[in-house]
Amino acid sequence: MPGHADCGPGRQLEVGGGHLDLRFDAPAFSVSPAELCDWTEQAARAVTHYFGRFPVSQVRIVLRPVEGDRVQTGTTYPDGGDGVPLITVQLGRRAGMPALQRDWVMAHEMVHLAVPSVPRNSHWLEEGIATYVEPVSRIQLGQISAQKFWGDLLLGIPKGMPQSGDRGLDQTPTWGRTYWGGALFCLLADIEIRQRSQGRKSLRDALRGVLSAGGSIRDDRTVIAVLAAADQAIGMSVLTDLYTRMAAHPAPEGIDWLWGRLGVSMQQGQVVFDDTAEWAALRRSMTQEP
Ligand SMILES: [Zn+2]
Repeated sequence: MPGHADCGPGRQLEVGGGHLDLRFDAPAFSVSPAELCDWTEQAARAVTHYFGRFPVSQVRIVLRPVEGDRVQTGTTYPDGGDGVPLITVQLGRRAGMPALQRDWVMAHEMVHLAVPSVPRNSHWLEEGIATYVEPVSRIQLGQISAQKFWGDLLLGIPKGMPQSGDRGLDQTPTWGRTYWGGALFCLLADIEIRQRSQGRKSLRDALRGVLSAGGSIRDDRTVIAVLAAADQAIGMSVLTDLYTRMAAHPAPEGIDWLWGRLGVSMQQGQVVFDDTAEWAALRRSMTQEP
């Protein structure tokens, strides 16, 4: 029977105003209970830093042992059966601390807590925000490097580009368009908000606005309502307009122009930055502490 984790003295997993009820069967894993608590807390701190608080007042997190030596998958449920959101993470029994330090799943699932539940055909919005915000939140606390951040975007975003026969984000429920097409939507929105506000605002402010308007995973919302709350928080119509362009059309047509302007490329497996690029300063600001 999984019980409450023994996180040791002073480690109650209260982060950012949220109570994290972490449950696991300690003998099932090769890392110690304290290390499992540390890992969970690191992810919670990144998500708290991004959203200004932990997204929900209470969450239950259940670690399920599976074969292997890494963190496998996670799922987040608005209601675990008693009104409290539930995150389950499948963790390899033999996973060591390096695997936990490399892991993105825990933070990804916690970002889901900050996003309202939207209709099925717009699932890309939930997954896109989780996919994009997870590394942004972690780099802003120094948990990953700029090379890792941009390298993952350079490899991932092309998987979210429209392929032939695409009918826009709302009508193309493939894995690539759901996760990386949604992340592409977030990346384009983040850049446009930063540009139009002369660097004073970012997607973070828009998403904080959604959360403070009462929109967490426990709330069902239409996409339009979520994006309107986001735009209202930044005082600009960015996400709503982007949705109009991308929801029912295979847009954008290409993305190489964006990497060129940001001054980031992949050369022989290495991320290379060009600080003379037109948007180099904007690119640097995206991975710095705001
Ligand atoms: Zn997800």
